[in-house]
Amino acid sequence: MRYRLILASCLAAAAASVTAQQRAQPDWKKVEDETMTHYQAVLRLDTRNPPGNEHVVDEYVKKVLDADGIPSQVVGSDMNRPNLIARLKGNGRKRPLLIMGHSDTVTTDDKKWTHPPLSAIRDGGYVYGRGTVDDKDNLTASLMTLLLLKRLNVPLDRDVIFVSESGEEGSSGIGIGYLVREHFADIDAEYCLAEGGGVTRIGGEVKYATVQTLEKVPRGIELVAHGISGHGSIPLKSNAIVHLAGAVAKIGDWRPEIRFNETTGTYFRKLAAISPPDVARYYRDVLSTDPKVQKAADDWLFENEPRHSSMLRTSVSPNIFTGGYRSNVIPSEAKATLDVRALPDENPAKFLEEVKRVVNDPAVDVRFTGQNERPGFPDAKLDSEMYKALEAAGTRVYNAPTLPTMSTGATDMAQLRAKGVQCFGIGPAVDFEDAPKGFGAHSDQERLLESELHRFVRFNWDVVMAIAGAK
Ligand SMILES: [Zn+2]
Repeated sequence: MRYRLILASCLAAAAASVTAQQRAQPDWKKVEDETMTHYQAVLRLDTRNPPGNEHVVDEYVKKVLDADGIPSQVVGSDMNRPNLIARLKGNGRKRPLLIMGHSDTVTTDDKKWTHPPLSAIRDGGYVYGRGTVDDKDNLTASLMTLLLLKRLNVPLDRDVIFVSESGEEGSSGIGIGYLVREHFADIDAEYCLAEGGGVTRIGGEVKYATVQTLEKVPRGIELVAHGISGHGSIPLKSNAIVHLAGAVAKIGDWRPEIRFNETTGTYFRKLAAISPPDVARYYRDVLSTDPKVQKAADDWLFENEPRHSSMLRTSVSPNIFTGGYRSNVIPSEAKATLDVRALPDENPAKFLEEVKRVVNDPAVDVRFTGQNERPGFPDAKLDSEMYKALEAAGTRVYNAPTLPTMSTGATDMAQLRAKGVQCFGIGPAVDFEDAPKGFGAHSDQERLLESELHRFVRFNWDVVMAIAGAK
């Protein structure tokens, strides 16, 4: 009896210290069935962009939310391609959390698919279909989290906003661009979770999780060479094509200076700690303050791991070269376009001067193409409540270390970051070996392991509870 009393009082004390997170545990078996239902349903809706027609996903999601009494609004500049916004109210102690996924997918070459791209067929533990890993996984996981928060009546310290955005695949003007322009008050948040990260499995085993905290900024530059035109039978020193070729060759040989930020510095340090010794040394050496050691590692990365090389610097890739129209005419102009991916803190004007210095030819004009005049922005902070929650969930759900990453390409988080929202890119676990086999995002085929879809929903829930659940 006494023992029982002691036990009872221990239990009571334990119960009092239980967090909201532990109190409200969903019935995961039931959640898995429903997750699969919604996932397959949205995969079967054709939102291949172009043309997109994302309204079909919004209509489906709206019905699902309506059934649970979660209010939502469908907004857009093109009502064939709208966005959906839903919000669960918190007590306002903290600023909102935005969770989002994009409803469009890239197009498909149907003959390349074993299972048709809109079939969402389950086979051998996988679900097949366009959008399975980009981005109907994030869309489904955030939808499930929202539904569970509502059903379990979870007290929240901040509003949780859910967004299904359209047009991510190359037409963000109608999606995130429109939302930031016309509905920013409806989506403004302290933190945002979207696509862009993930968990890497190698040989079927989870190795590490990545969280995208930063991305490079596209800033196109063009080189225009001017010369005297003339008859092709009389070569001229001023030949525009020769001058342009010289300029492009110099750019090709040039690797702008290496500069680390909090994200990339942490990334390479942590990657070195979990990689086999033969490659780990390059990740460590590239951080070295000894220029010779750093240069050797940089050379190795450029040749063997070009994505990592691009993460070190503002990168420049000459991708278009045009000039001339007849073999017997010396043209007066030739033009090359450089794809520049700037580090977020790069000073554009200074960088342009740098390019001019490298080209070093008065016959070649160097200028910005005028597109992508996006502002730079700071890293999502690694000492923030959100990053810590993501790290903790990575350990709890995947038993894996978390690495912050900087995308070399642009994402829809850029627009939000420019408005001061701290964004973090997440994603489910996929096999490292799967993309080279042609099953990755934008590949000939696309698939996701069912078990990893369900684990990702739990991860999503875990993070949202930690960040938004009332303490
Ligand atoms: Zn995507």
